[in-house]
Amino acid sequence: MKIGYIIHPRKDVIKRIEWIGKHKFDFVDLFLEEDIAVPEKINIAQVKSILKKYNLSAVGHTAWYLPIGSPIKLIRECAIKEAERYFKIFRQLKVEYVTIHAFWPPSIFSDNEGVEYQIETLKKLVKISRNYNLRLMYEPIDTERDNLKNVSKILSNVSELYFHLDIGHANLYKKKINDFIKKFHKKLVHIHLHDNHGKEDEHLPLGKGNIDIEKVIRELRKYDYDGTITLEIFKGNNKDLLRSKDKLRKLWNSE
Ligand SMILES: [Zn+2]
Repeated sequence: MKIGYIIHPRKDVIKRIEWIGKHKFDFVDLFLEEDIAVPEKINIAQVKSILKKYNLSAVGHTAWYLPIGSPIKLIRECAIKEAERYFKIFRQLKVEYVTIHAFWPPSIFSDNEGVEYQIETLKKLVKISRNYNLRLMYEPIDTERDNLKNVSKILSNVSELYFHLDIGHANLYKKKINDFIKKFHKKLVHIHLHDNHGKEDEHLPLGKGNIDIEKVIRELRKYDYDGTITLEIFKGNNKDLLRSKDKLRKLWNSE
């Protein structure tokens, strides 16, 4: 299992990767988004060389607000075009897996309509991603609609779409994290890990919310998960983050 950390799309990318490397993470979760980490501003050669310097691998991540499920067809088509601009960069960086987030239309559109819009866009995106040697993973977000039933419809209707489990998101609205692992473990290739109290998407350090991390790790190990886990922690200081990293490694090795 590899532990990674994120870059900040609105801050100096190279400096952040340097920090991640110095603190001995295994990989970088490349959040390529507005307004600094965008295709026209990324220095590919520099990013490649800093990854190499610290022996870091990378996974790709597109903007969480990419409107793949918009009710407006033209906007969905633009979302595809926008994603492709990033696919080109990820290919140059030799990334294999790239995250696409769920996106739900306003509530006057039903869950099924939201599912349909996303399926239509994701099928097109998967097809395009093959030209760039990428594999796409679907990350459910922090809404009530990101439930087992809807996620299952999307994953089963888009072949070659993988599953990205965000453990914090799967703890909201009385959802059960381990249900997601049980149901989608065959498609699971990447994880975001952070804590919360089950009500808001707080992105806390491990142990600061109510997630039973040991229980989740046991379930992951039961299905022989041995992929990447990004600590997607936004709150607390660097010490809290590094403590979370040590805690995860220790728990993982002891289960
Ligand atoms: Zn996430």
